[in-house]
Amino acid sequence: MNVILFGFGRAGKIHYHNCLKNANIQLTHVIDVMDISDSLQSNIHYVDYNDKDKIHCLMKNTNIQAVLIASPTYLHFEMIMLALNFNKHVFVEKPISNIYDNIESCFKLAEQKNLILFVGFNRRFDPLLMDIQEKLEKNEIGKIHYATTTSRDYPYPTQEYLNKSAGMFNDCATHDIDYMCWMLKDKPISVSVMASNGNNYNYDHVAIHFKFSMGTIVSMNLSRVASSYDQRCEFFGEFGEIINNDFLQNKKLSFPQRYEQSYINELQEFYTCIIEHKKPSVSKYDCMNNHIIAKACQEAVNQNKQITIKYGDLEFRDFSSSVPQRVKDNYLKARSHQTFDFVTKMQQHFGNFDIKMNIWDILENLNDLVDVSDPDISHPNLFHAFQTAEMMRRDDLPDWMQLIGLIHDIGKIMYIKGSDETGTGKKEQWAMVGDTFIVGCQLPNTLVFPEFNTLNPDMKNEIRSTTLGIYQKGCGLDNVICSWGHDEYLYRILSCNKNPNSLPIQALYIIRFHSLYAYHDKLEYMQFQSHKDKTLFHWLKLFNKYDLYSKSDILLDSNTLKSYYTGLIQKYFDNDYLFI
Ligand code: FE
Ligand code: FE
Repeated sequence: MNVILFGFGRAGKIHYHNCLKNANIQLTHVIDVMDISDSLQSNIHYVDYNDKDKIHCLMKNTNIQAVLIASPTYLHFEMIMLALNFNKHVFVEKPISNIYDNIESCFKLAEQKNLILFVGFNRRFDPLLMDIQEKLEKNEIGKIHYATTTSRDYPYPTQEYLNKSAGMFNDCATHDIDYMCWMLKDKPISVSVMASNGNNYNYDHVAIHFKFSMGTIVSMNLSRVASSYDQRCEFFGEFGEIINNDFLQNKKLSFPQRYEQSYINELQEFYTCIIEHKKPSVSKYDCMNNHIIAKACQEAVNQNKQITIKYGDLEFRDFSSSVPQRVKDNYLKARSHQTFDFVTKMQQHFGNFDIKMNIWDILENLNDLVDVSDPDISHPNLFHAFQTAEMMRRDDLPDWMQLIGLIHDIGKIMYIKGSDETGTGKKEQWAMVGDTFIVGCQLPNTLVFPEFNTLNPDMKNEIRSTTLGIYQKGCGLDNVICSWGHDEYLYRILSCNKNPNSLPIQALYIIRFHSLYAYHDKLEYMQFQSHKDKTLFHWLKLFNKYDLYSKSDILLDSNTLKSYYTGLIQKYFDNDYLFI
C-alpha cells in the first residue's frame, strides 16, 4: 500500500520510522513546512506544504491509497477533507480537530466515500493497556468502583510546542479519557478539576475527578513535570484490583519509548482495517464524546465548580451503508430463521417461568449484555433503562409509564435460558433483539433490510406469504404472532399468574409491541388493526420517542435513582422478583 505522510514533527517521525519497518506499507512522500529532505531515505520524496499544486498532483495519483496525518492539530481538518475527497484512506493523530462540527464532517465524508478514517488514540494499542482491557472485559475484578490514571510528561515541552498545543485537556488528558471510557464501556456524567501553574489552557498540573454513569469514580492526575515519562493506571473492582505500576524513575524516557509498540500496532491495525474493510475501534462517537469531555474539563476550571457533562444529539436508527456488520448479520439471521414454526417453538421453550429473579438483579445482570442489533451508541442496558424512565418522569408522564421505561427491555434476560443456536444467547441475538415483524403473513418491504425478506422460508408458503396470511382482517394485534424477541417474552412474563402486578393494559401493550417498528413507525399491518389497537396506537408512538431519545442527552447517576424506582416497583408489583 502506497502512503504519504503529512507532518514530520514529534509524532510524524515515529510514523515515518514505523512505515519503513512495516512490510505492507510503502511510504512515498513526506509533506512538511520545513525542508526535511536530508532526513529522508533516498527513495522517499519531500514535498513542501506550501506547494499546493504538487500536493494536488499527489492526491490525484491513484497509486497512493492512504494518507497519514501527523501535522499540528489545526491543520488536520483541511488535510483530512482533501485526502478523503481524493478517495484516500486516512490515518490521523488524535484529536481530529478541536472544532466539534469538523469532527462530524470528517466522519460523514469518510462514510459517504466508504473510506477508513482511523484516529490514533494510541493507548488502545498499548500491550499493557490492552491486557487490562481484556481482563475488565472478562469481568475479572467485577464492577469497577474506582480507577486512577497518572500521566506525567517528559521532557518539559518546548515553548514552540506549547504555543501550538490545544491545551492539557485536549492534548494530554484526552488520551486518558479515551482509554478510560473504552475500558469501562461507560462515560463520565460530571467532572471537577483543579489546575495549577500555567495559562492558555496549558497547566503544569491538573487533577481531574470524574463520576461515571455506572457509579465509577475516576481520578486522573496529569503533570508536565517529572524525571521520566510516567503513565500508570489502577482499577479497584468488587473482586480485586488491577494495577499497572510500570515506571522507571529518572530513566529520562519519553512517549516514543513508552508507546513504541502501540504506534507500531496502530499502523498495522490501520492497514488491516483497509484491507479487511473493518471498522476502526475509535468511532465517530468516541471522538465527539472525547471532545465534549475535554471541553467540560476546561469549563470546570473556568467556572471553578463541578460540571454536568452534556452529550450531543445523535441520529438514531441509521441503517445505511455505515451500519456495523454485526447489526446487518443480526437482521439477516432473524429474517432467515424466524418463521411461524420457529416462534411456536420459542413460545414453548420460554413458557415455564421457573427461575425466580429479583427485578434489580435482572436489570443489573443485563449490563453485561450488548445489544448487537443496535446501530446507536451503546450504553450499558441499565443506563438506557434509567434514561428512558427519567425522561418520562421529567415530562410528567404517568408513573406506570416511567416504570415500563425502566423495565421495557428486561425481556433480554432470556439469554439465561437461551442459546446461540436459537438466536437467544449472548453472542447470537437474532431472536431476542432488533425490530420484530408478524409471522404467518407477508413481510412488508418497509422492514429494515427488505432485501432479506426473500430468505424467509414462510415467504414460499402459499398462505403465509399473503397480506392477511393465516389471520383475519381486523383480528387485532393481540391475535397475531410476532417474531420472537424480548418484547413478547416480557409480555408473557408479566401476563403469567406467577407474576401478579397491577400494570394497566397500555403498559403491557407497549411492552409487547415496542419493537414492531413496521407497525408504529411505517404503518404496516393496518389490515389487522382492531378497535383496541386504534385506541392504543398513540401510546406506542409516545413511548418510542423516549425509547430512542434516551440514547443520548445527559447521563444520569444510577445510585441516586434506585430508591425512587424501587417505590414504583413496590406500587405495581406484588413482589420484588419475577419468575422468568
Ligand atoms: Fe426494546
Ligand atoms: Fe429500549
